[in-house]
Amino acid sequence: TFDKAGGAESAAAGRGRQILDLPVAAIRRPLGRTRGNDQDKVAALMESITAIGLQEPIDVLEVDGVYYGFSGCHRYEAHQRLGLETIRCRVRKANKEVLKMHMM
Ligand code: ADP
Repeated sequence: TFDKAGGAESAAAGRGRQILDLPVAAIRRPLGRTRGNDQDKVAALMESITAIGLQEPIDVLEVDGVYYGFSGCHRYEAHQRLGLETIRCRVRKANKEVLKMHMM
């Protein structure tokens, strides 16, 4: 299990979403879109995240206990390149059908 983040947690939980700090390495990125990232954006985000922290969590799907990220590519790469262990995520539980649709 992972530590729950404070703040927006209760409001997010009310909509079936949870804000969690997940290990960056635990998030699968099936579409691998970070390769097409705008490196100027990533660099700017690295600077900003270092200065003020991540202001908007990335969206993650949880399917059978596995976490999948399809968006937030620049924020994800910024965390990777900063060597941060965890990233703040808005987690939505979903089933395999929903996952399949995201894979298309
Ligand atoms: P991504 O692929 O991660 O969505 P974008 O460049 O499209 O990257 O958008 C950057 C997003 O990162 C915006 O939604 C912005 O609100 C969010 N964000 C979160 N934390 C920060 C931060 N510290 N500085 C700048 N933008 C941030």
